[in-house]
Amino acid sequence: IWNRALDKLKTKISEQNYSTWITPINPVKLSGNQFYVEVPNKFIKDWINDNYKNEIEKTLSELGKDEYILEIKINKTIQKETKKTEENEVIPIVKEKNKINNKKENIPNLNPKYTFDTFVAGTSNQFAHAAAMAVANNPATTYNPLFIYGGVGLGKTHLINAIGNEIYKKDKNTKICYYSSEKFTNELINSLRHAKMNEFRNKFRSIDILLIDDIQFIAGKKSTQEEFFHTFNALYESHKQIIVTSDKFPKEIPDLEERLRSRFEWGLIADIQAPDTETKQAILNMKADQNNIILSEDVIYFLANSISNNVRELEGYLIRIGAYASLTSTPITIQMAKKILKDILIENSKEITVEKIQKTVAEHFQIKTSELKSSKRLKNIVFPRQVAMYISRNLTSLSYPEIGTKFGGKDHSTIIHAIKKIEKNMKEDIYIKTIIEKLIENLSI
Ligand code: ADP
Ligand code: MG
Repeated sequence: IWNRALDKLKTKISEQNYSTWITPINPVKLSGNQFYVEVPNKFIKDWINDNYKNEIEKTLSELGKDEYILEIKINKTIQKETKKTEENEVIPIVKEKNKINNKKENIPNLNPKYTFDTFVAGTSNQFAHAAAMAVANNPATTYNPLFIYGGVGLGKTHLINAIGNEIYKKDKNTKICYYSSEKFTNELINSLRHAKMNEFRNKFRSIDILLIDDIQFIAGKKSTQEEFFHTFNALYESHKQIIVTSDKFPKEIPDLEERLRSRFEWGLIADIQAPDTETKQAILNMKADQNNIILSEDVIYFLANSISNNVRELEGYLIRIGAYASLTSTPITIQMAKKILKDILIENSKEITVEKIQKTVAEHFQIKTSELKSSKRLKNIVFPRQVAMYISRNLTSLSYPEIGTKFGGKDHSTIIHAIKKIEKNMKEDIYIKTIIEKLIENLSI
């Protein structure tokens, strides 16, 4: 059936695409209506899932009188034949490092790829970058704690690792620990379960530099916050450096204990904003170099101007284009980049709708879009709802009643009231103003 399906697919898919995406697929087995296949890497897997899965399933189903479901697995042994295009080099590097240094127990669990050398400083991250450098050069004497916050994919994890790597480079005896707040929580829970709290405490309190990534995840977890609070105090009092990242400003993290919030505000709070075009160009240049992707200036300019502000996404697109170029042995042109990123570009250029605003606002405040449209009077819903109404009025051309309809049938006076309220809030509270401006900026990109 697979061979017959291939014959059929050949007639449906262009020759080049067929040889790039379909040829690498290895059929493995058929179990019930699950058709298992293997591909050499994640890139091809994702691409097939996005572009060809339906077509293949349809073709198989036509031939086999059954509804087949394609299950794609990655088989690393076929991977050698294709060029390495992915970022999975991290693990081998770490392993190698451990091998070389295995006499010493003091190797920090940092990502060695994330250093200051590979971090592009631009206007959007200047402040955080400078603060990170200052802390790396003089730990525990300048800013303590250092609190770095910024949106998803803007370089927080990179920067916090860079601090650790730099400190370690200067002094291999420094005890540096990098933790995601989830990992911190898990270790804590394990220690509680196995009655090893003393061990847990001693371990954390012997650290010189504590790096906690994505602290917002401890929000709402009472015992984790409690323990972290004590860890924080112990380290702080013995003049050890603490660095924390978050996707939100301390005040914006919901369900964060007040005493922790105020601790975070003791030191320096530095933000990372979405990169401007120039910074994006510089980052693309660096990432292209790192991945041996040859990009002309005009393609870089095109990419920097036309797509996402999220650096991780930007990097993903670059890898995708690079992989395509190397798999098809064609040079990268604007035309080609446009073709590959077609779906993404369309998505991004779509006009701003109330639905999109609701989705963005709901995600930001971690509530459901349905709650925005509901009539619930809870404070943590009313405020986001009013924000969404305010932004809808500002970014769409809809009238008050039309906006009201989109919010579950509110009347126009509700909308007007919401807008007035938010305007007032923005005048009085710089944080609220910043949040809303950032939401608007993100939506307008
Ligand atoms: P966050 O933790 O804020 O979500 P990351 O630090 O994981 O973001 O960054 C996502 C990707 O973007 C990483 O591969 C990182 O190397 C890259 N990146 C982000 N900002 C920069 C920058 N200024 N220079 C170079 N690479 C960057
Ligand atoms: Mg991160």
